Amino acid sequence: MFRNFMAGRYGGDHFGMFLVILSIILCVVFLFVPVPFISWVSWIPLVFSIYRMFSRQIEKRQAENYAFLRKWGAVRTWWWNLKNRVKDGRTHRYYKCPECGKKLRVPKGKGKISITCPQCGNKFIKKT
Ligand SMILES: [Zn+2]
Repeated sequence: MFRNFMAGRYGGDHFGMFLVILSIILCVVFLFVPVPFISWVSWIPLVFSIYRMFSRQIEKRQAENYAFLRKWGAVRTWWWNLKNRVKDGRTHRYYKCPECGKKLRVPKGKGKISITCPQCGNKFIKKT
């Protein structure tokens, strides 16, 4: 029965899963927001995910999922970089090349050192 009903419909994907999780998170967050009816907002992603599941416009839904995965990948890379940067911050410092603006990573606690930019060859002196 159910399989018949789902025939030709889109079903679940990563974006759908994300929407359900987002809805749950919003639901919890809005418990602490003293605005009347704001909890209704948390239903929007859930309703949208259900709509997508039963949608027959498979190409459109796939395009949405693809766009989502690309954005999600960017967020993950950003987060990964941030984590690395924090871990790195104890042993390294970051400087911007005054010529071309490239970010350079330099070990900490070496005193005054001369840094050569690998991109433009500019040399500058910094205390680390
Ligand atoms: Zn440079």
